[in-house]
Amino acid sequence: MKTSHRLATSLAAAAAVAAAVVAPATGEASYSSTSQAQAASVESAMSSAAGTRTLTKRRLSIRTSGMVTVGDELLVTGRTSLRRALVRLQVNQSGRWRRIDRTRTSAHGTFRTSEVVTREGEHRFRVVVSPRRGHDATASFRVSAVPRATGPTGWPTEEPTALPTATPVATWTPVPTTTPTPTAPPVPVPTSGAGNAADWSYITGGTEAIAWNSCSVITWGYSPAGEYAGARDDWARAFDLVAQRSGLSFEYAGTDGAIDVSWSDAAAQPRLAGSVVGFGGPSYRYIDPDANDGVSMLITGGRVVLDRESPLSPGHATTGGAAWGQVMVHELMHAVGLGHAAGREQIMYPSTGALFLGAGDHTGLYNVGSSRGCLSSSQYADPAPGAEGGGEVLVHDRLGDLS
Ligand SMILES: [Zn+2]
Repeated sequence: MKTSHRLATSLAAAAAVAAAVVAPATGEASYSSTSQAQAASVESAMSSAAGTRTLTKRRLSIRTSGMVTVGDELLVTGRTSLRRALVRLQVNQSGRWRRIDRTRTSAHGTFRTSEVVTREGEHRFRVVVSPRRGHDATASFRVSAVPRATGPTGWPTEEPTALPTATPVATWTPVPTTTPTPTAPPVPVPTSGAGNAADWSYITGGTEAIAWNSCSVITWGYSPAGEYAGARDDWARAFDLVAQRSGLSFEYAGTDGAIDVSWSDAAAQPRLAGSVVGFGGPSYRYIDPDANDGVSMLITGGRVVLDRESPLSPGHATTGGAAWGQVMVHELMHAVGLGHAAGREQIMYPSTGALFLGAGDHTGLYNVGSSRGCLSSSQYADPAPGAEGGGEVLVHDRLGDLS
């Protein structure tokens, strides 16, 4: 990937709105609110009407509007005071509000939703947060329209006003299960790093969360054929790093494990032709997000194949260009559910370059790790249509600038 033009062309944040709903003392709903709006000063086409808000019974609704171009990705990030509240992104068409995406706030009250624009021109959007009755709610959000062609994920490179960075939770509440209650692993504290803390994505490309069950040990198997001397130790170090930053637990299990790691070449594996250094990703099945802290895809396996013909150095480089160690960390992050980042500072940038985990990498690992608590696919009391099944996502990665 070349440097994107996103900074220059992004329709930067047009609105940052804070509104408060005060729960009534009696059963009658009466709300008071405060709000403040900031219209962007840039030539972002978002209109100055951004930030108007309406409050109605049992929901918090914040509106904005702006000019968008077909193909843009409309990205809404925000934070509320509510855990796992329903959040709907709606667009007004001919006077009617039509839902274009829905999600739930995380255990920390953050949310993110997005939609690719299919209709040119002025759009009116609103975000509706539905608190449970009697709960106070505050919310803030920001809308960005990101030209889709400029990056692999469409995430803005700028720091959002309401940064959806996960914050550590002090305590963990287990989801009731019928099996013996597992012990939740400690939740890592996201640490700082280079770049934008919001620069991360799920490998499935949307806003639906995907993760391993952090309450089980994840085994990894290693096939040494084609390896360089010491490669397994480099892999072990990659697993240690990802474990430390995500809270997931890994265990080397010989040649067979839930995550399958191997070496190949373009002759045996055509996917590795050209500058591809490797590919990796998870296989998953759908689970009930309402019973699993908003996670709708449970990872049940992972696969990483590295191209033994790629001209990378052994080890985890700390100076100069990236080495195999960085590629291993990158591929492993795919296998735990993360997709690419937009900035070169991140290990999850689509080609080699970064030597250390960046701020977005840390946030991503936090969000697919033990912060999610225990996940289970056995909690479907009443499976919804389409709730079964799953799939596999594999992402190919290329050699970047090695100097
Ligand atoms: Zn990748």
